[in-house]
Amino acid sequence: MKLIDGKAIAAEIRAELKLRTQAFEEKYGKKIGLAVVLIGSDPASQVYVRNKVKACEEAGIRSFRHDLPEETTQKQAEELVLALAEDENIHGILVQLPLPKGLDEKRLLSLIPSSKDVDGFLAENIGRLALKEEGTVACTPLGVMEMLSRSGISAAGKRAVVVGRSNIVGRPMALLLLNADATVTICHSKTQDLAAECRRADILVAAIGKPKFITADMIKEGAVVIDVGMDRDENGKLCGDVDFENVKEKASAITPVPGGVGPMTIAMLLKNTCDAAERAMERAERAAE
Ligand code: NAP
Repeated sequence: MKLIDGKAIAAEIRAELKLRTQAFEEKYGKKIGLAVVLIGSDPASQVYVRNKVKACEEAGIRSFRHDLPEETTQKQAEELVLALAEDENIHGILVQLPLPKGLDEKRLLSLIPSSKDVDGFLAENIGRLALKEEGTVACTPLGVMEMLSRSGISAAGKRAVVVGRSNIVGRPMALLLLNADATVTICHSKTQDLAAECRRADILVAAIGKPKFITADMIKEGAVVIDVGMDRDENGKLCGDVDFENVKEKASAITPVPGGVGPMTIAMLLKNTCDAAERAMERAERAAE
């Protein structure tokens, strides 16, 4: 069994991105910039934002952090996003979700230009993914594809089963696997005989949000198992959607939690920001010609 070490792969990617950010700065005389907007005081969001800002600094990306209070109005939030959309020093805009109650998430996110949508959540970017066109792809599923390819695992011709169909993980994950020529099945809470569907998988991706939900009897011998879940077990310890200890005995390759998909998500946010910045500068150069 091969343990797919997300932490090590993410570190490798971050080192590569550091070279890209340095080259950008030398070429254009400014840093790549990412705006991070945090509204309210959700403790988990505070931690996520802190980690993202730290990772940016380490990779040579300048972060512009905007902390707004819980009682921020829709108008104030929209004014900030519109100003960031106009700012040429900002190449990516990340609005940390969830927003406090009363704010219209869809409307706020729709003000981010698709070229600065480094989370890949906007309809335009999801549409491009569905059409297999160039765009920005959501960080977590993109991280999974990167882990697979850097581990020498090809999805082409394989039977892939994605459990979960959320807009930020399951759905784009299935599209990426399809674009990589896998034969894809998407499962969800209404799927009948989930275990049988999972047992057909050469590549199984679990993105459910239920601790240790995928058990060894649901796994085909030799399957590749990717665990996106970030859950807490009965003792409050961080774990995934997969019963790792038992499933690892049957899998040919598996990601741990923590240290699997999680670190890849932040690495892909940095990658998406670099891509957005380089594309913005190329567009500006073309426009000046
Ligand atoms: P979500 O929006 O709650 O979606 C969960 C999906 O699982 C839904 O599609 C749901 O089906 C399906 N599901 C729930 N119970 C099921 C069951 N009994 N059988 C089959 N399918 C079932 O969650 P999410 O945002 O996609 O996140 C999923 C997990 O990934 C969570 O643990 C989250 O913390 C983690 N996550 C990790 C990262 C990372 O960086 N590692 C990033 C994002 C999320 P329905 O559609 O039918 O309700």
